[in-house]
Amino acid sequence: MQNLTHLDIDYFDWYKEIIKSKKENEFFIKQDSLDSIENRYKEYMENFDSSNLILIKDSIYSKNHPELTSCYKSKTKKVSELITKIKDAQTTETKSKCQYCGINRPKTMDHYLPISLYPEYAVLAINLLPCCNDCNKKKDNYWKEEGFRGILNFYIDNIPDEQFLVGNIIIQNNLPSFIVNFDFSMIDKDFSNIVTAHYKRLELFERYSQESADEISEISRQLSIYSSDKTVDEISKLLKTDANDLQIKYGKNYWKAILRAALSASIVYLNNYKKYVE
Ligand SMILES: [Zn+2]
Repeated sequence: MQNLTHLDIDYFDWYKEIIKSKKENEFFIKQDSLDSIENRYKEYMENFDSSNLILIKDSIYSKNHPELTSCYKSKTKKVSELITKIKDAQTTETKSKCQYCGINRPKTMDHYLPISLYPEYAVLAINLLPCCNDCNKKKDNYWKEEGFRGILNFYIDNIPDEQFLVGNIIIQNNLPSFIVNFDFSMIDKDFSNIVTAHYKRLELFERYSQESADEISEISRQLSIYSSDKTVDEISKLLKTDANDLQIKYGKNYWKAILRAALSASIVYLNNYKKYVE
């Protein structure tokens, strides 16, 4: 979980370029429509700059404006170009992982303010965040609770360099399962509210548990091949080092790092890892 880099371009110029191909559409040729959308862009940009997206007013375009949604959905060359620019602006690490979950590759774009509720922001670059298909589907039309945002915004939220996830390994029916929880002792209250809602909406604890079965089996396989002569203490240290390396590369709360740290602290696992190779 790391910050993404947002594009610094003239967002409204891009909007105008994108709608050029749609000139025939009655909505777009009206000057008052253009002015009104420009005002909405200004409202977004101001609240984005002050990290106050929650203050953006509801859209008057949410109903009966398919021409706005189609700016994004009918992928013209200009839209594809914009998406490529957003993807290219990211670091090697954030290009390879969806920051919403840290599980999959970010193959889609999330409309942070949902396209169905705010179609005027369909092609606004700072409303588009690289994201995986699973997260995109689970997020759907959601982005806020009463009074606060419910999804982390990796452009504007300062992702703290503190660990707020803790993992535990529980052995049930001779199989290790990975249980994740929050520890917000080092985290600001407002941020922890967003994090809690984000993890809940995207079902991240459940998804980490599910993903962990294959990961634990792979870790156990590696240990059996390369480290079977090592003591429990040495294996624990090895896992801890791996966890630290992953945290440096992908952020303090990267689930695979939390999993390795949890395994390194589980005496039952360390004594029995050979049993968990599938
Ligand atoms: Zn994801």
